[in-house]
Amino acid sequence: MTHHRVVIIGSGFSGLGMAIRLKQAGIEDFVILERAGDLGGTWRDNTYPGCQCDVESNLYSYSFAPRATWSRTYAPQAEIWDYLRECARKFALEKHIRYQHEVQSATWDDAAARWRIETAGGPFTAGVLVAATGPLSEPSIPAIPGLNEFPGPRFHSAAWDHGVDLAGKRVAVIGTGASAVQFVPRIQPEAARLYLFQRTPPWVLPHRDRPVRGLARALYRTVPAWQRVVRSFVYWSRELFVRPFMRPRPNSLPERLARTHLERQVADPGLRARLAPSYAIGCKRILISNVYYPAIQQPNVELVTDDIREVRGRAIVTGDGHEREVDVIILATGFRVTEMPFASRVTGRDGKSLADRWRPSPSAYRGVAVAGFPNLFFLLGPNTGLGHTSVLVMVEAQLRYVMGSLRHLERSGMSAIEVRREAQDGFDAEVQSRLRDTVWNAGGCRSWYLDSTGRNTTIWPGMTWPYVNMLRRFDPAAYHLSQRPA
Ligand SMILES: Cc1cc2nc3c(=O)[nH]c(=O)nc-3n(C[C@H](O)[C@H](O)[C@H](O)COP(=O)(O)OP(=O)(O)OC[C@H]3O[C@@H](n4cnc5c(N)ncnc54)[C@H](O)[C@@H]3O)c2cc1C
Repeated sequence: MTHHRVVIIGSGFSGLGMAIRLKQAGIEDFVILERAGDLGGTWRDNTYPGCQCDVESNLYSYSFAPRATWSRTYAPQAEIWDYLRECARKFALEKHIRYQHEVQSATWDDAAARWRIETAGGPFTAGVLVAATGPLSEPSIPAIPGLNEFPGPRFHSAAWDHGVDLAGKRVAVIGTGASAVQFVPRIQPEAARLYLFQRTPPWVLPHRDRPVRGLARALYRTVPAWQRVVRSFVYWSRELFVRPFMRPRPNSLPERLARTHLERQVADPGLRARLAPSYAIGCKRILISNVYYPAIQQPNVELVTDDIREVRGRAIVTGDGHEREVDVIILATGFRVTEMPFASRVTGRDGKSLADRWRPSPSAYRGVAVAGFPNLFFLLGPNTGLGHTSVLVMVEAQLRYVMGSLRHLERSGMSAIEVRREAQDGFDAEVQSRLRDTVWNAGGCRSWYLDSTGRNTTIWPGMTWPYVNMLRRFDPAAYHLSQRPA
């Protein structure tokens, strides 16, 4: 059994960021437990054609590790993954990472004031546990009757099977969310036939992606302050962009832009009507693409808007009884976000699992701490997701806050720190009240931002700067400290 002062679960942006901050504070006694065989989280798993970030890379990267060499303003997946590996090298993190160490359970031992962690690679104990398991790390597989019996290749976009040659094949893509919008234009030219099954049309805005050319790169390299200026500009323009979503009105500016984009790119009024969302823009994640609408109008593509009833042999059968034979099924069906499967593996002070504690709906103080679960911190926990800007803004605020709590715990000489229930409930009530009239709650759609009870447990209600400001300093009054029995 190995003991560490801090154990981090997950080696994506959040887990690696935590590790970097620990190192910068001179803390070396930590490990990162990662279930996969490599680091990178989202950017290791999502290798589908066309995968790229949808926030400018100057903002979708750590503020403390800018990169002068992004090839495009919105970097492709391989480059982001490479960036994370570069960060791991630069900050000497590799020796701290334990691959193939899926965390199977984490149990708080109150007498010893430490976490007992069972992993696929053996047991660990930790003074402090940081859960950086990712909000979008568990693919959601739809319960379509007959899907498991489909005789051909079938895979989720987050586990793309590059061994499957799509050339000349009849391909079904189920889902029209962020991933599908990126990969459909890439696979459309190859496929003999592409059936795109759409349940709800997304709002799509024009993409402003472009290559980062020599001059900009040279400037970033030689005048790092210039890249910080560009980052700030991107940050503040995105902060302003979110305002219409906090008090939605019909025909907002983003909605007009998206409608014009649709009208410019889709001439056929019948198709346009099927692609026009009936909910307020922003209610679901807004997508960006200049090539999605043109791709789905190619003669080899059929947009199917009838519900899928079942998969029967090689055929996908829709509600109207129509059967379409396909060779490959690609699930672009997103992730299990609100259920947080990891919660069922964590047991707190009173012997209750976090999943039980979070039934029917999760919440966390400032998205980071949960009463009953001492010395446990979440990165990108409940209500700290975003629809309008880089989540790394939230992650970095949380890293600072967690470091503040570690310092507080150390200075106090105590062994455990736990958020007060009243603080957690008060914070949750405030977030929920601020969400009430926003587009994410009242936009007229059913999105993955809402959990099975209809409560929004994923999104932060609006601009990020108040959150960043709030987490600038650790607030001991919201916590109580305890000492393990002698
Ligand atoms: C295709 C795609 C594009 C995206 N684009 C953007 C974007 O442009 N801008 C933006 O802000 N956000 C974007 N996101 C959201 C993205 O998930 C976050 O930006 C960020 O990558 C999350 O980092 P993370 O470290 O918190 O989680 P992840 O990157 O998901 O990492 C979590 C890690 O934890 C590991 N793990 C999970 N459970 C266990 C366990 N039990 N034991 C051990 N290890 C475990 C996983 O294997 C994984 O490595 C995108 C998401 C996807 C899927």
